[in-house]
Amino acid sequence: MSSYEEIVSRLRTSFQSGKTRTEEYRISQLEAVGCFLEEKRKVLNEALAKDLHKSVFESEVSELSMTRTEINFAINNLKSWMKDEYVDKNLATKLDSAFVRKDPYGVALIIGAWNYPIHLTLIPLVGAISAGNCAILKPSEISTNSEKVLAELLPAYLDKDCFAVVSGGVKETTQLLEMKFDYIFFTGSPNVGKIIMAAASKHLTPVTLELGGKNPCYVDRGVDPQTTANRIVWSRFYNAGQTCVAPDYILCDTETREQLVPAMREALERFYGKDPQQSPDFGRIVSGKHFQRVKALLASGKVVIGGGSDEEDKYIAPTVLVDVKETDPVMQEEIFGPILPILTVENVKEAIGYINRHERPLALYAFSPDNKVVNHVLDCTSSGGFCGNDGMMHMTLISLPFGGIGNSGMGMYHGKYSFDTFSHHRACLLRSTGLESINTIRYPPYTERSLGLLLQAIETKRKGFCSIQ
Ligand code: NAD
Repeated sequence: MSSYEEIVSRLRTSFQSGKTRTEEYRISQLEAVGCFLEEKRKVLNEALAKDLHKSVFESEVSELSMTRTEINFAINNLKSWMKDEYVDKNLATKLDSAFVRKDPYGVALIIGAWNYPIHLTLIPLVGAISAGNCAILKPSEISTNSEKVLAELLPAYLDKDCFAVVSGGVKETTQLLEMKFDYIFFTGSPNVGKIIMAAASKHLTPVTLELGGKNPCYVDRGVDPQTTANRIVWSRFYNAGQTCVAPDYILCDTETREQLVPAMREALERFYGKDPQQSPDFGRIVSGKHFQRVKALLASGKVVIGGGSDEEDKYIAPTVLVDVKETDPVMQEEIFGPILPILTVENVKEAIGYINRHERPLALYAFSPDNKVVNHVLDCTSSGGFCGNDGMMHMTLISLPFGGIGNSGMGMYHGKYSFDTFSHHRACLLRSTGLESINTIRYPPYTERSLGLLLQAIETKRKGFCSIQ
């Protein structure tokens, strides 16, 4: 037996014992994840700083606090989430009990990305635990320091019979994916998402794919340039642009662009100083390979802000590009770095046309002084999530689902959505054993009379007036 087979088999045996199903057990494991965050806070912040030059502020907000919020929300609501949901019945089942049981899937595999290495592994884990599953975590090997903390320190907090952390890259993940899992939750690129889905299909394993892509940001005429610039700059350059929901490019007319560029310059200097490389708050590209990829994208269009880089430090200056064409390299792939191209369009119609000609994004942003314009962009496009007049803020709400559509992914999580994602919604009907005479209408020999009675008992009638002639 390979070590992976051994882990999966151990977890499956524990799952089948039923130990993960009780509310007390789930809460104990959720609390254990909370303890890990609390007690290893310093080590986690240090690892994130080493991996991405992530400031304590950004680590605390987007890695630790968001995970803690998920844990607390799950603990606060678990009892009601776990309850069977009783549903409406038809005449034929009036005396029976019909409900949806939220059953755990079994053994889940959670594969994470490197840009928020703690958040992207532990928040899905909160969902898996809440729903009563066992789980294997496979953090990204690119964020090496965070991977090490998760692999070496997290298991001591969790029940080892039900949870495990596996380290490694492509080779290890490929081997792991040969195993049969009951659920796979993947965060990463669309290309690898296809590999995961193909591997899952061999065992008919259901998947959630949290993927990426290019998130458009439309800026309408008449916006307040400074407020808009502050919000776009913050969301684009947070974590040095390595955020799946960061605005990837701006669409606006030339007049708006002329107002936005100086306002963005002003915002960048206010946020990161005259030399962002010296700022403790500005991140670094995660690896030398990723640095080379992002640096090559600086050659598109014309640099109007930033443009500098330092390979040794994996630093790319926050950069704004203008005169960018649809065919430029920077518009062919998700940038995932601190570069913001501006494409000019005549009006909102052209912007919507551009957006709809491309893959459906994970997030879509529209800024306008007129709510009708924001709503118009919302109505005429499709994306995983949408935020009007700001960037990324929609994902701070635990009450909203988080996930993509089309090329940006499938499935969703956060808050109750995580619990539902990791639960099989089992349809249950507990019938009464009496009144057998009523049941005879569905048994052969069939008659016209019994058909009429049966249809009366089971068919849903349309409400109100029928307008179809
Ligand atoms: P990636 O797809 O390269 O890697 C993600 C995970 O898959 C890693 O754990 C990695 O070890 C594993 N992996 C890589 N290649 C594999 C292969 N051939 N076979 C099996 N496993 C493999 O993604 P990344 O570079 O870590 O992250 C960046 C991408 O993730 C971007 O596209 C970004 O938009 C996306 N992302 C999405 C979200 C989201 O919530 N939707 C969040 C963060 C990042």
